[in-house]
Amino acid sequence: MKKKSLIIIGSGPAGLSAAIYAARANLKPLVFEGYQSGGQLMITTEVENFPGFKDGILGPDLIAAFRAQAERFGTEFITSDVTKVQLSKDKKIIWEGENSYQTMALIIATGATANLLGLKQEKELMGRGVSVCATCDGFFFKDKTICVVGGGDSAMEEAIFLTRFASKVYIIHRRDAFRASKIMVSRAEKNPKIEFVLDSVVDDILGENSITGIRLKNTKTNSLHELKVDGIFIAIGHTPNTDLFKGQINMDKKGYIISSNEKYRLTATNLSGVFACGDVQDSHYRQAITAAGSGCMAAMDAEHYLESILLDQTGLYK
Ligand code: NAP
Repeated sequence: MKKKSLIIIGSGPAGLSAAIYAARANLKPLVFEGYQSGGQLMITTEVENFPGFKDGILGPDLIAAFRAQAERFGTEFITSDVTKVQLSKDKKIIWEGENSYQTMALIIATGATANLLGLKQEKELMGRGVSVCATCDGFFFKDKTICVVGGGDSAMEEAIFLTRFASKVYIIHRRDAFRASKIMVSRAEKNPKIEFVLDSVVDDILGENSITGIRLKNTKTNSLHELKVDGIFIAIGHTPNTDLFKGQINMDKKGYIISSNEKYRLTATNLSGVFACGDVQDSHYRQAITAAGSGCMAAMDAEHYLESILLDQTGLYK
């Protein structure tokens, strides 16, 4: 079994920012970046809201820059998925197939995955008319007709936000009652650019290289009808990537890891030496910049933790 001082699982903005900070602090982090590295930015086209890139940057290019920066300071990468973890206060073991690694500190940055409808066109047109992030992509729909799918707070919030750009926003929801809070529904209802299409699911996304419309199915009558739209925003919730850690670390009822466990270590989990950052512990902000910020915090928290176990009371390293 190989021994490490710090392992980071995940290679989106949170994991890579944690790696940059940890590597510069000479912690020689090992990052399991996964077979599908880079996280949600890899399925984003233009990123226009990450500070420092006034003309925008492609999601994959931003990740490549993060990774190169982490590598420059000595981060080691393993391009495969972690298959098993065994976490306790005293021992943290990470498996990648047959290979095992024991680490003194662990940063979990495995992110979350936007739930999709399961339609064939959805993945093909992702970033080319299909989006899972209004804040990221709304700007590209100036004076267009678009729809938001979902009936939760995210769908309401995204639809209201999108009216800044689009000329018309349909909210498509599969029921006639909402999971969203009353105040959010009421705000959406009062917005003249928003129209609700209830008791309806998206049956198909129409268009080859860009979206020309959607086909809707009424959930009560099963009748079909087409709606012309230029874009579709899917806001049906996210699933945190936490299956690996179930039963070993505290999570909320949706499976998000609970961090903020200690006063001055905001990324600390209930397990001493295990930290979480990015979307895996944040169902609210979910932005590349907030994930990167929390990655930096996790590295600093891990550094302080490692220092506290390596230094004895005289201030000398054990
Ligand atoms: P959510 O509350 O889980 O809502 C998901 C919505 O998507 C539900 O209306 C659900 O329909 C619908 N849905 C799920 N799967 C679907 C499918 N396959 N096809 C069609 N529709 C589907 O998720 P969320 O809106 O992302 O919110 C997540 C959390 O963040 C919530 O706690 C929310 O309050 C919070 N949040 C708060 C704010 C705010 O306060 N400003 C903003 C955003 C999010 P059903 O209702 O029929 O199940």
